[in-house]
Formats: sequence, structure tokens, C-alpha cells
Amino acid sequence: MSPHGTGDFPEVPAMNEGDPASDDLPGRPGVGGLVNDLPTRPDTSEQRRSELAESLRKVRERLDRACRAAGRRPDEVELLAVTKTFPASDVALLADLGLVEFAENREQEARVKVAEFAALRPDARVRWHMVGQLQRNKARAVVRWADVVESVDSERLVEALRRATANALDAGDRKHPLDVLVQVSLDEAEGRGGCRPDEVPKLADMIMRTSDLRLRGVMAVAPLGGDPDVAFDTLSVISARLRRDHPEAVDVSAGMSGDLESAVAHGSTRVRVGTALLGGRRLTSP
Ligand SMILES: *Cc1c(COP(=O)(O)O)cnc(C)c1O
Repeated sequence: MSPHGTGDFPEVPAMNEGDPASDDLPGRPGVGGLVNDLPTRPDTSEQRRSELAESLRKVRERLDRACRAAGRRPDEVELLAVTKTFPASDVALLADLGLVEFAENREQEARVKVAEFAALRPDARVRWHMVGQLQRNKARAVVRWADVVESVDSERLVEALRRATANALDAGDRKHPLDVLVQVSLDEAEGRGGCRPDEVPKLADMIMRTSDLRLRGVMAVAPLGGDPDVAFDTLSVISARLRRDHPEAVDVSAGMSGDLESAVAHGSTRVRVGTALLGGRRLTSP
């Protein structure tokens, strides 16, 4: 018992816990999830909700139009929201608007956000994708939150993910095998991740030999400054070849905010959209 009556109060939690990088994005007041609902900013969350609803409507419109132009049904193309640099509160709002697939590109940022989102929406059923370059020493951590790893591009990474997934299943840290896509590099440039096209069959066979990884398809990023039609056409050939050997590997993760129409025209089954949904990021990520 405190003689002054003040010592028993818990410390006030820090405002910027969790996701410091996104806290100083311009024009984004009140990020940081749980502290959003302070009565001093009663309209923040409502305003953000309508912003996101509007951008989601526009992205869906673009997707519908692209599908119609390509003679495809809109439900053939999944919308994956890339929430990197944005707070868990945005994920919650997008989930409220009906999105179920979310992606991150950095393990540490994702780990925190996935936990924050789970606290905000404990009953929401969403799936988390890792789409960024992944070091082998992050495999253990990533399989604790990711449903899908789309950036598998080396035998060493396959082996690390296999072992990490097996251990996580044993320990009860995950319930399902890990879905994986082989990321293909469509130019010679190093640094954005992805294996060479001729390495895909070898990686696919290796993944198929494991019981804890499930081969779902291929992923690619169109080369900077290149013609996305050429890149996505190449990817569709690679995907067709892969499906000849592995008919269940049907996913083609291709297309981002700037080139989703081209990707849909060339058979993408999943577009990964960040900027067009959530707004501009302060730093450009790969
Ligand atoms: C950031 C990112 C995206 C989304 O890019 P936008 O241009 O913001 O839509 C898609 N894929 C990967 C791998 C990314 O890192």
C-alpha cells in the first residue's frame, strides 16, 4: 500500500509501441492501433475507414474491368492487400471491409502487426502472406505467423522452411503445412529476389518431396522500367510448364498497383496491391 496513494497505478504504456516506422508517415494521424480510439480524435478511424472503402472500391473496379477485358471471371483473381508500413488498425478496417488476404515483406514488422491485428479482431479469419525476401535465419520466425510464403527462391530456403515448419507443427505453433510459391526473377538484375526461370523445376521438385510445404505456384515482380506485358507473359509460360509437372500448383501471384491490368491479362490469379489501397509509403520497398 502506498502511503501517498499514487504508487499503485500501472505505468502509462508508450504510445509508439510496435510499429514505429509507420507512426510518422505524413498525413496519417493516430496510427498505432489501440490508441486510435482516444476521444480527442473521434473521427480518425471513421475517416480512414471511408478512405479505405473508397480505394478498395476503385481497386475492385479496376480488377473487374481487367477481368472482363481478358474474358475472365472476377472471382478468378484474388486481391492480396500489401500492408507493409501501415498499422494494424488499417488491416482491421480492411478486414471489416471484407478482405481476407494480407501480405507483409519484412518478418519483424509482420510479426508485431499480426499480433496487434489478432488483438484488434480476435474473431477475424484472415490469411497472411510473406512476399519479401527472406533470410534463412528468419524461417523459424516467419512460419509462426505466415500462412503462405511467396518468396521462395533457393534450395537452402526450402530446407530452412521445411525444418522450421516441421518444428512449428510439432510444437503446436502452427496447425497447417506452409503454402509456398516459387518466386521467379524475370530479369537478370540481382537484389529483388527470385530464382532463375530454369531453376523452378528443381525447387518445385524439392518442395514436393516435403510433407510440410505445399507447392501452390509462382510469384514474380515485373522488372523496374521493363514492359510488364513481356514479363507477365514470360511468367505465364513458366507457370504453364510448372503445372504440367505439378497440376495443383495453379497460383500465379503477379501484378501490383501499377501493373495489375497487365498481370490479369496474362493469367494472374492473385494481385498484390499496396499503394492503390492504402496510399503512398514513405520509403519505397522492393
Ligand atoms: C510492396 C509490394 C507490393 C505492392 O506494391 P504496390 O506498388 O504498392 O501495390 C507487391 N509485391 C511485393 C513483393 C511488394 O514488396
